Amino acid sequence: MKHPTISYLCNVQYGPGSREDLPGLLSQLNITRPLLVTDEGVMAAGIPDQLPAKPTALFSGIESNPSEESVLAGLDVYRANDCDGIIALGGGSPIDCAKCISLLATHEGTLESYAFAYGGHLKITANKPPIIAIPTTAGTGTEVGRAGLVTMSSGSKLAIVSAYLYPDWSICDAELTLGLPPSLTAATGMDAVSHCIETYCSPRYNPVADAIAIDGLVRAVNNIRSAYRDGSNIEARCEMMMAATQGALSFAKGLGAVHAVSHPLGALKDRRLHHGTLNAVLMPHVIRFNAETIESRINDMTNALGITSGADSFCTFLNQLLDDLELPHSLGEMGVIDSDLSTIPEAALIDHCAATNPREMTLENTAQLLRDSL
Ligand SMILES: [Zn+2]
Repeated sequence: MKHPTISYLCNVQYGPGSREDLPGLLSQLNITRPLLVTDEGVMAAGIPDQLPAKPTALFSGIESNPSEESVLAGLDVYRANDCDGIIALGGGSPIDCAKCISLLATHEGTLESYAFAYGGHLKITANKPPIIAIPTTAGTGTEVGRAGLVTMSSGSKLAIVSAYLYPDWSICDAELTLGLPPSLTAATGMDAVSHCIETYCSPRYNPVADAIAIDGLVRAVNNIRSAYRDGSNIEARCEMMMAATQGALSFAKGLGAVHAVSHPLGALKDRRLHHGTLNAVLMPHVIRFNAETIESRINDMTNALGITSGADSFCTFLNQLLDDLELPHSLGEMGVIDSDLSTIPEAALIDHCAATNPREMTLENTAQLLRDSL
């Protein structure tokens, strides 16, 4: 597309208790045989029992950073039970996996052939079963996003991106996040923070997204500590849920180096690195990496946060946030070693987020960014 796209296509039921609307939405979308796509953590927390509708079939075999194998296994369950729609319940992994199951239910060929990096988005059509997405974390915002991130059988972590992948409806009920442990509250919440910051720094023209991103950033930063310290604080949980929604509504404007690098790092099979924690660690390093090209953008954010202007002040603020949330400051603290990094710059440059980083990413400067983050 030659000119900027500004597109907000999501339907969201928002607020504590909004899961009550699930039966009405199922009938509105003519879903009579829903497949519930979730993961074992959500199952163990008993969250499916809190839904006021019973699925026809269940698929819960999804790992963190979902794989193509999981998508295909879910597709088998969908077909074997003659399902006609999907309820996606969980964090980013089950919702992304559900988007890809619904795609392959009606689209021929391999999942990888639909990857954005290979122009596959042009082959995706509206002909696919409906999805209702119900997040149980406040972070990825994928319930209002048009992308599914999957680690392919080839080893690459690739995005499937299309306006047709927006869930048909989302239910953002913060009561479902009350049991999220502090470490995941912090890591997923920092994913939302990174979405707002990266979107705001993206060079594309989209003042609508900018306004949403700034509001989401302030909302997240003002509430993440409360949600971390007291998971039962429903007001803080609701605000984090909204910040996550805002982060994802705005990131249609494009993310940047944090995500371009964290996607291939998240695909390292032996490491199992959490997406949100990676982004939290990378954020201050990427602010420094981009600092010269985004001076006024940084000052807009520091003004909104009521802190001293400048990249140094912003990084100090973010590092303090990491301390308060007991998150690591380096990839090394997460268990990454030097030899893990050899393939990352090349993979980062083909990631769909690299194109909207405000400073041009090269193999050399991306390798240096990684060394600085280690
Ligand atoms: Zn993210």
